[in-house]
Amino acid sequence: MLQKKKEKRTALMGGTFDPIHYGHLSAAQFAAEEFNIDEVIFMPAGFPYFKEKSQVTPGDIRLVMTKLAVKGNSLFTVSDMEIKRQGETYTVDTMDELSRTIGGELFLITGSDAAAGLEKWHEPERLLQLCSVIVVSRPGSDDEWEEFRKTELYKQYEDRFLRLMIPGVDVSSTELRKRAAAGKSIKYLLPEEVENYILKNQIYNKNSLSDFDWEKAKMKLISAVSPKRYKHTLGVVDEAKRLCALWNGDAQKVEIAAFLHDCAKGVPKDIMLDMCRQYGVELDEDTLNNFPVIHQFLGAALAKAEYGISDEDVLNAIRYHTTGRAGMSLTEKIVFCADYTEAGRKDHDGLAEARQLVNEDLDKAVEHILRHTVEYIKENNFTLHSLSEEALNYYRKA
Ligand code: ATP
Ligand code: MG
Repeated sequence: MLQKKKEKRTALMGGTFDPIHYGHLSAAQFAAEEFNIDEVIFMPAGFPYFKEKSQVTPGDIRLVMTKLAVKGNSLFTVSDMEIKRQGETYTVDTMDELSRTIGGELFLITGSDAAAGLEKWHEPERLLQLCSVIVVSRPGSDDEWEEFRKTELYKQYEDRFLRLMIPGVDVSSTELRKRAAAGKSIKYLLPEEVENYILKNQIYNKNSLSDFDWEKAKMKLISAVSPKRYKHTLGVVDEAKRLCALWNGDAQKVEIAAFLHDCAKGVPKDIMLDMCRQYGVELDEDTLNNFPVIHQFLGAALAKAEYGISDEDVLNAIRYHTTGRAGMSLTEKIVFCADYTEAGRKDHDGLAEARQLVNEDLDKAVEHILRHTVEYIKENNFTLHSLSEEALNYYRKA
């Protein structure tokens, strides 16, 4: 007698995965083993309708992290179905599509916190007709689940719910994002490859700029530089903001970089080198022969260690604001130019033209400022920093 072929058992593991962590992976692994699942599909949600769009990391980035996380597990696959779908994405539509494309027996894996909110999902009854729901225990959400068991929806579809108790992994993406943004370690809470990707690409560092404590930074800078220098700084901030609006830059980055660009300028000359050593700033021959530019490198280090800035673009805008460099970012160019064209600068040769150029062509303005700096350095028998020389060659050709 022919035996009926066993139906494939597929489970959908949905989530925002912002980022994916061991809580998700262990829940899926235990569920797959317990219920003989042949394939678990990890599917990062599009823009979840219940989360603010701007607060969710773009889909392609969450997809990369999810792929890195499941690498090497033959039970796990990743799908971009929801990320690709336009408009609102609902689990019921995804499950419907899976039933048409894959068929077999379908499961949905959720933590008990998510399952407890099922009544608020889109068309929960249709969803429960399409699949069984594996409700995995999650630390801290057992009460919510018990509440849900009192609902009509649960009672009506009780046989569709499969409860699974697992050793709790008390980690959440929210906690991971917070830790990463605060520069704290996220080690041992998610796969190492995902951790490295997050750190290398600074996926969650952006937020730390919005946490920048302006009041504290102002107090700090006022006591670190002379009143004259502080006034110049405010002039650079105003000019940088104006250029930022004109050239469509990132206002937050530009404003912070402009504010901190000279934060090391008040360091007394005789302790400048000691401070560099203390903050791990390595100075090459070229820089040691160019004492006036040391403050840009030390400034970047102070911005990081003392003012809590981790955004590399902001740090680079501080790090190269005096010498410039080849291939500057928009933030870097704006701070570099604003330092030269701010309203408080005393009139000198080339300033009027620089002020005109920043409004017309930022690259030309950079070149113009560099050329004038080179002339000034030659006239005064100073040595030119190789970064400025490279920058000038670069912007001459640009
Ligand atoms: P966020 O803090 O951003 O809400 P999260 O950690 O809750 O993130 P989600 O992407 O919202 O992760 O969760 C996707 C699914 O994984 C949900 O069903 C959720 O209940 C489940 N889940 C998440 N973390 C755990 C965990 N630590 N243990 C068990 N299940 C979990
Ligand atoms: Mg969640």
